[in-house]
Amino acid sequence: MTPLKLTMLGMDSLNDNTVNIRFKVDSEQPFVVIAGQFLRLHFTQDDGLETFRSYSIASIFPEEKTTMDEVDIAVSWVPGGLATEKLSKMQVGQSMEATGPYGRFCLLPDRHERYFLIATGTGVTPYRAMLKEIELRLQQGSAFYVVMGAQDETGLLYEADFVALEQAYEHFHYVPCLSRIDRNEAGPNDQSGYVQNYLAKHDFDVENDIAYLCGNPNMVDEAFNLLKEKGMPVPLIKREKYISPATKKK
Ligand SMILES: Cc1cc2nc3c(=O)[nH]c(=O)nc-3n(C[C@H](O)[C@H](O)[C@H](O)COP(=O)(O)OP(=O)(O)OC[C@H]3O[C@@H](n4cnc5c(N)ncnc54)[C@H](O)[C@@H]3O)c2cc1C
Repeated sequence: MTPLKLTMLGMDSLNDNTVNIRFKVDSEQPFVVIAGQFLRLHFTQDDGLETFRSYSIASIFPEEKTTMDEVDIAVSWVPGGLATEKLSKMQVGQSMEATGPYGRFCLLPDRHERYFLIATGTGVTPYRAMLKEIELRLQQGSAFYVVMGAQDETGLLYEADFVALEQAYEHFHYVPCLSRIDRNEAGPNDQSGYVQNYLAKHDFDVENDIAYLCGNPNMVDEAFNLLKEKGMPVPLIKREKYISPATKKK
């Protein structure tokens, strides 16, 4: 795969620990992406070995499959992390290599009655990318639940985009699950606790529902087991775990 060239256009803070980075994409071929896919950003370890870190594309796609010349990603800083170290020092106008797009964490062609899009932290970005396609499916009669886990309200990334859709569509539900600190002024669907606590209370229609899980690997594993116990068929529980590849050794 020929590498892409990403040039930083800007970096905006989403909260104390998370930024939105916008890149210009230069590619030999048109850069065609499906909402939900991710890029691999290339880095060099201190010992000179090449490695990568993956980031979901966070931009709101104009349609489900589209050609892009700019992308947004949301990055949560990890203390001591390789990508954290390099990206946090990157300046507007500097470039780096990437490859992609990768991944099949996308809405399937078949329309389902109810979609449960479950995330923690930056794991919500694939759902932001899908918002226009979600809107089309709402218009066709589907219902959506975006179940968003964060420690406190500062972790509810891109909340305004989801709230706007909730205000426009009766069958779109944005459900913030706050595990540490509730809000002073709670939103209409706010929950205290982990997303798993919310899912445990919910009934699933195993014939017509589909679930997507994205973000913290512990959440993804626990929610997967919970949904399976509730009878959801495994092929209808899509998973994307946000983990780093094993450190390369010389
Ligand atoms: C398909 C896919 C999509 C992804 N999309 C995103 C995304 O959109 N946004 C995003 O921020 N991340 C995303 N990730 C995770 C991302 O690729 C990196 O793993 C993350 O940014 C940490 O990289 P780093 O080099 O800074 O830290 P590393 O050098 O990889 O890690 C340093 C240390 O911190 C630990 N660590 C790694 N991640 C975490 C964490 N989250 N919390 C606590 N400790 C950790 C490691 O085990 C290691 O000990 C995605 C991962 C995958 C596989």
